[in-house]
Amino acid sequence: MDKSLLSHWWHKMETAHGGPIPERPPLTADERADVAIVGAGYTGLYTALELLKAEPGLKVVLLDANVAGYGASGRNGGAVIAQLNGSREFWAKRGGGRDAAIAMERAVQAAVVEVGKVITEEGIDCGYAHNGVAMVARTPLEADRFRASVEEDRRFGFGPEDTRYLERDEILDRINIAGALGARFSSHCASVDGGRLARGLAEAVERRGGVIYESSAVLRIEPRRAVTARASVEAKFVVRATEAYSESIKGQERTVVPIHTSMLATEVLTEDQMRQLRWSGHEALLAEHPFLHLQFTSDNRITIGGDDPRVPYLYGSAPSPDAPPGRKVRDHYYRELIKLFPFLDGVEIVDEWQGVFGATKDWAPNANLDRATGLGVAGGYVGEGLAPSNLVGRTMRDLILGRESELTRLPHTNPRLRRWEPEPLRYLGSGVIWAARAVGDAKEHRTDKPSRLITLGNRAAGFSGHLG
Ligand SMILES: Cc1cc2nc3c(=O)[nH]c(=O)nc-3n(C[C@H](O)[C@H](O)[C@H](O)COP(=O)(O)OP(=O)(O)OC[C@H]3O[C@@H](n4cnc5c(N)ncnc54)[C@H](O)[C@@H]3O)c2cc1C
Repeated sequence: MDKSLLSHWWHKMETAHGGPIPERPPLTADERADVAIVGAGYTGLYTALELLKAEPGLKVVLLDANVAGYGASGRNGGAVIAQLNGSREFWAKRGGGRDAAIAMERAVQAAVVEVGKVITEEGIDCGYAHNGVAMVARTPLEADRFRASVEEDRRFGFGPEDTRYLERDEILDRINIAGALGARFSSHCASVDGGRLARGLAEAVERRGGVIYESSAVLRIEPRRAVTARASVEAKFVVRATEAYSESIKGQERTVVPIHTSMLATEVLTEDQMRQLRWSGHEALLAEHPFLHLQFTSDNRITIGGDDPRVPYLYGSAPSPDAPPGRKVRDHYYRELIKLFPFLDGVEIVDEWQGVFGATKDWAPNANLDRATGLGVAGGYVGEGLAPSNLVGRTMRDLILGRESELTRLPHTNPRLRRWEPEPLRYLGSGVIWAARAVGDAKEHRTDKPSRLITLGNRAAGFSGHLG
């Protein structure tokens, strides 16, 4: 596998390594373990690490179809952001009411700090910088919306140390964004190199005695058994942590659907470009119309990704190819980058890549364990997984160890899981919903008035917004 095509982060790791990073051996003979984890992205890795920290004698085996960090965990935008899919109303309804929704939000905020702790404890060199996130408003409608959302935060007990509205001069002092009118700022976000985080977590798991098999695709999961083409792992608990790739496992085709997205990374900026940019705080940056996420990396590049200009779902839940996304997508993100920072026109793009994130039918993450069968499932972050995967990993630890804890009482634990519609309904539905949202988004941008098409599209998809 040419891992340098997976993402800028993988490309950098292979360059630093001086060539292809060797892969771990596959599972070739049957094994027994206490816990078998299918998928070695953040979810699987945090689950393993937390289990091994809590009970060092446990035998924990991870099986990955590709390499640890192959999926979204090695390809993301690196914002360890305290956002969680599902609105406050959604989480309140899932059980526990308003207090549970607030506890959930506080738990994700705490996860941003937890990620930093793990990175420090395990000595992972991935440029963790806890500098917050700014969501820039470039239209009066966006500015009104962000002001209102900060006011709503106050009604839910979140103070200026959590979120605040930055006036135009304040955001421009931080980042020189063309057309900025203001921004919603949250202090609960850190930036990292997502690839190095995934690789560092895998190495930490191994240092603590966990075993990772790569090129070991699990074909089916049975009670207390994960089965690959060559051999199986028998374990008291088997956790599926395959996120957007879950369709590859028999019987899991309708549990999580992949949503396609892409990213670009620029060359290292010059001193002059950085002087004009004024982005010295390296906070994460989000924008709307279309949705964009940007990072000013610790080695002074910009990465940009967000909503692709293509339909984000492929027939049969096909995963993304490990290849550049093509001209249309590249031009889209480049245009958006230059709209934000016109003085960067001409900056070179050094890497462009595709990835998928996973959505459950509820558009909200979960940590589930059925003790009767030993089967666990974890994930469903819809593109906001860097902090929640740590929370979910710690929750899976408590569930597996049979500990009642604050985490197992949160409403992401053991919800009823629903399935997506069979094909061709998924494909047809996603096309219609995507078109409604795209037209609504363009209309809202043109008229500066809220579009009902976006609300209708979200409602049809079952998407209720997010916490944080
Ligand atoms: C381009 C992009 C940008 C993103 N940016 C951000 C961001 O800035 N902030 C944020 O919070 N979130 C972001 N996300 C989302 C975040 O990266 C994910 O939510 C998170 O990485 C999910 O981790 P995971 O371990 O659950 O899944 P993954 O990292 O996808 O891991 C799943 C693993 O399962 C393995 N696998 C698949 N099938 C099998 C099988 N049959 N048998 C064994 N193993 C299998 C895969 O090889 C893979 O390693 C982004 C996602 C993408 C794609």
